[in-house]
Amino acid sequence: MFNAEPAVASEEPPASEPLAALKHFRPAGRGFWADVPDPLWNDWRWQLRHRITTLEQLERLLPTLTPEERAGAILANQKLAMAITPYFFNLIDPGDEFCPIRRQVIPRLEETDTAPWEMTDPCGEDSHAPVPGLVHRYPDRVLFLVTDRCAAYCRYCTRSRLVSNAAGYDFHPEFDRQLDYIARTPAIRDVLLSGGDPLLFNDEKLEDLLSRLRAIPHVEFVRLGTRIPIFLPQRITSELCQMLRPFHPLFVSIHSNHPRELTTEVREALGRLADAGIPLGNQSVLLRHVNDDVQVMKAHVQKLLLCRVRPYYLYQCDLIAGSAHLRASVRKGLEIMDGLRGHTTGYAVPTYVIDAPGGGGKVPVSPEYVLSRNKDRVVIRNYEGKIFEYPEAMDGRPLFRASVGSLNET
Ligand SMILES: *Cc1c(COP(=O)(O)O)cnc(C)c1O
Repeated sequence: MFNAEPAVASEEPPASEPLAALKHFRPAGRGFWADVPDPLWNDWRWQLRHRITTLEQLERLLPTLTPEERAGAILANQKLAMAITPYFFNLIDPGDEFCPIRRQVIPRLEETDTAPWEMTDPCGEDSHAPVPGLVHRYPDRVLFLVTDRCAAYCRYCTRSRLVSNAAGYDFHPEFDRQLDYIARTPAIRDVLLSGGDPLLFNDEKLEDLLSRLRAIPHVEFVRLGTRIPIFLPQRITSELCQMLRPFHPLFVSIHSNHPRELTTEVREALGRLADAGIPLGNQSVLLRHVNDDVQVMKAHVQKLLLCRVRPYYLYQCDLIAGSAHLRASVRKGLEIMDGLRGHTTGYAVPTYVIDAPGGGGKVPVSPEYVLSRNKDRVVIRNYEGKIFEYPEAMDGRPLFRASVGSLNET
């Protein structure tokens, strides 16, 4: 099926590990923190307190730090802060400059390169906020930003303008105003809590917010958008899962991009959420040299199912200022979708979307399967490229045969 590419000198990193190796579950392990006693290592607050946030720490822990990364770490404090939990840091392969984990969380000098079409608010969220921290773009649901803090900061964050507060956005959501807007807008039946990461709140604070939301009769459905199960699986305690149970139907959307993020620790944390009856979805961002590869993505979506997580969206990377080095093409995204649909379990196939620049919302993009269509027939192709014809049904046809009555009379 594939034509062998001519051998050309290229700056591309070497091809990734085979599918089977990518799907293997490994513990992140202790790495640099072998001496830390278990109760501390497994305490999410300890992990947060010991995050890698300075160039000095990076230099000490990552002897292969490149000049681009060094410059990036210095500049991060003016744009989007650097923070990496010790747990997640252990997933970095220090010998690989192109390590897919490293590229997601270690700043690079390229973040200062901005193209005219890049934006600080690429999805036009601020212009769709009836009250600060509440984005009402679609008729029946809202995005409720609860905090500007995350356990770690993704370098391609679509909300870099406010997250971590390095750029001085001064994000101070007032829950009273956000909840009041939801309460007096009966069309809102679905609330998506995000930020920042809502699971950074302690159990009491989150329980209080969920209770106040659940007290609004027209709120049918609540979701949490979080990367904490990936950055900080220690946060997913049995107490947290127990606290969340009364708020069903409650869904959780996690964010993971590469199969290596799905460790044994993460699998256990996700299992605890699933055991609490919480349906789990995943959102991935298509990222250059991270997951812009059919084999990597196939391993990732299959591994998500092993973690009881249904791949939900694959996002084309938003046009966030300074993200060009991390963005892969839509062409590549379509190629990946073509390599998933039909080739693996339908449950494993996410919807590929572009969040329309400037604020049009998510638009699904898909390889073409309908080759032609008229009033009589539809011509389609399957995942193997074989072509089929489907005779079109007649929507206008009467529901009953006119002759049935006369048949009965004879
Ligand atoms: C993504 C998003 C939602 C949720 O969209 P779904 O397609 O229902 O997952 C809601 N509001 C905003 C502003 C969003 O960006």
